[in-house]
Amino acid sequence: MRRTGFLYDPRFLLHETGEDHPECPDRLRVIIAAMEQSGLMEQLVPIKAEKAKQRWIEAVHHIRYMLRFEETCAFGMPSLDHDENRICYDTYDVAILAVGGILKAVDAVMAGEVDNAFCAVRPPGHHAESDRAMGFCYLNNVAIAARYLQENWKIQRIGIIDFDVHHGNGTQHIFEQDPTVFYYSIHEHPSFAYPGTGRDFDIGIGEGEGFTKNSPVLPGRGDEEYRKRLTEELLPAMSAFQPQFLLLSAGFDAHRQDLMSGVNLSTEGYDYVSRLLIDLGAQLCGGRLVSILEGGYQLDILPLLVTNHIKYLAGLR
Ligand SMILES: [Zn+2]
Repeated sequence: MRRTGFLYDPRFLLHETGEDHPECPDRLRVIIAAMEQSGLMEQLVPIKAEKAKQRWIEAVHHIRYMLRFEETCAFGMPSLDHDENRICYDTYDVAILAVGGILKAVDAVMAGEVDNAFCAVRPPGHHAESDRAMGFCYLNNVAIAARYLQENWKIQRIGIIDFDVHHGNGTQHIFEQDPTVFYYSIHEHPSFAYPGTGRDFDIGIGEGEGFTKNSPVLPGRGDEEYRKRLTEELLPAMSAFQPQFLLLSAGFDAHRQDLMSGVNLSTEGYDYVSRLLIDLGAQLCGGRLVSILEGGYQLDILPLLVTNHIKYLAGLR
């Protein structure tokens, strides 16, 4: 049994995206309900959200973008940068609160108060670029956490592992010239998969060459392909990099019931991914790991996938 921190705040529900939008407040409602019913919540260490200091966000995002984001919400506009990125009056504040909570989760792991942590946040982050919103994402949560670890905690090498079914274009772009952050993504490609980036020949730029790794998976390939890619591509890359802290972009939209994708990962496939990543963290960086919710839109299966993932983090499975 490990001490696992859990970040959640009911204010994350205040980011309203309108009717029929897949990235909806119910995503968190069903997760929390399942955790309370199963008694899992009581076994975790609660982490409270608070607003992030602007300086940590500005380590990743341009000031002008932040002003534009704030004003667009305050003026009551329906979306930011693209129709898919629905916003409401509270979206800006909720996004800042989510980031602040994630930084507290990082603090809790670094201070040894918990062994690892899961952050049940909205909005998600990995598509957000430094200067624009994309794919339901406004602030790149995982990227800000990585910069915070480096600047506030003097951690030199961070590994980011992104198993959302979509490529984390924002995270890749933010770190592609940086040899201190290794970004690995396994995602669906090609087919209809959003956003269309994340090819296997993208390996980083300049000094960052060799510190980006993409494993694009063809539709329909399923568990076996994930097993193969993670063991043959992720494990050697991360073992060579020797990260001192692992951040997970935890997306649950690769599941076969999730209509956002076609890679056909099963519930057991997700169990395998969780186990492998937690073992990797234990091996490489003393288990120091923070897992941050990205996608996952099928409300019948999402609570099971998230609770299973958290049980692995907590050593309950
Ligand atoms: Zn996704």
